[in-house]
Amino acid sequence: VFVSFEGGDGAGKSTQMAMLREHLIHERQVSEDLVLTTREPGGTPLGEQIRSLLLHGEHVDERAEALLYAADRAHHIATVVRPHLARGGLVLGDRYLDSSIAYQGAGRALEADQIGALSLWATGGLLPDRTILLDLPPEVLDERRDAQELDRLEQAGREFHAAVRAMFLDMARAEPERFQVIDGTQSRDEVHAQVLEAVAEVLDR
Ligand code: C5P
Repeated sequence: VFVSFEGGDGAGKSTQMAMLREHLIHERQVSEDLVLTTREPGGTPLGEQIRSLLLHGEHVDERAEALLYAADRAHHIATVVRPHLARGGLVLGDRYLDSSIAYQGAGRALEADQIGALSLWATGGLLPDRTILLDLPPEVLDERRDAQELDRLEQAGREFHAAVRAMFLDMARAEPERFQVIDGTQSRDEVHAQVLEAVAEVLDR
């Protein structure tokens, strides 16, 4: 089972993933080595290098940027995610292809459907069983982000984040079977309860 978490920075993805992991291990008695928490960009040694180039390196041309995200994803899916799924494991992913569609597609010249197609090509068509979108208005994201260290991309303006959010919500509307949108302004525990509901169905399938 593959569950991806999406949303803007500061929406609480990593906190919720950690809470879900604990729940799976302690409440559902899933063996610890079957629960893999991973992230994109990153998730492999090569991916961490790509992540560092993308987030802290020189400005990258936007097509080159989209290809680097796709290269990271191809390697991550082939060497980490698919082998884990093949063992019957559970994968919790911090970002997946919807992030590319939202970030590389929104507010830029690149066509969202081309970015989606590139990602599907890169991964051999792997889609998550469930995608949890932690939705937050950009104002709240800004407040939360002030407390965190900003990287190059995170300094992009509020308009860009509004466009990214709108793209995520559009995608969720287009694929209601896969997506579950959760209001990220709620408390951690409220969000966690809704995350559990959202994954229960795919876990019990
Ligand atoms: O959530 P995380 O810290 O991994 O995201 C870092 C940044 O990478 C995001 O704020 C976003 O700007 C960027 N990103 C992107 N395209 C992706 C994934 C992440 O532009 N596919």
